[in-house]
Amino acid sequence: MLDLTCPACGNPLFKLKNSEIYCPSCEKKVIIEKQGQPTEKKQKLAQAGKDKNVSDLGLVLNQKLNDLKNRLATETDLSTIYKILKTIKLGITILNEIKQNQ
Ligand SMILES: [Zn+2]
Repeated sequence: MLDLTCPACGNPLFKLKNSEIYCPSCEKKVIIEKQGQPTEKKQKLAQAGKDKNVSDLGLVLNQKLNDLKNRLATETDLSTIYKILKTIKLGITILNEIKQNQ
């Protein structure tokens, strides 16, 4: 048992064999920041936010790429076509990065 308490429930925290900090009450891992303060809640929120944001971004990008594709089909101005193509390329690059991180 550690002399730290869980920031979410206030129960004592335990250190696992793999040196991870664990709250048996919340049944969750707790990340300890440099200053020694447990930040389970922050970490959890950050993780949840990250996952959600990433999948949302993927959805938005897919939608945008579809819009751009439709726009490209009817666009005749060369500089606009160029901009659309650059944007599509960037969008695909980001989508691939999201896929790789999942
Ligand atoms: Zn807890």
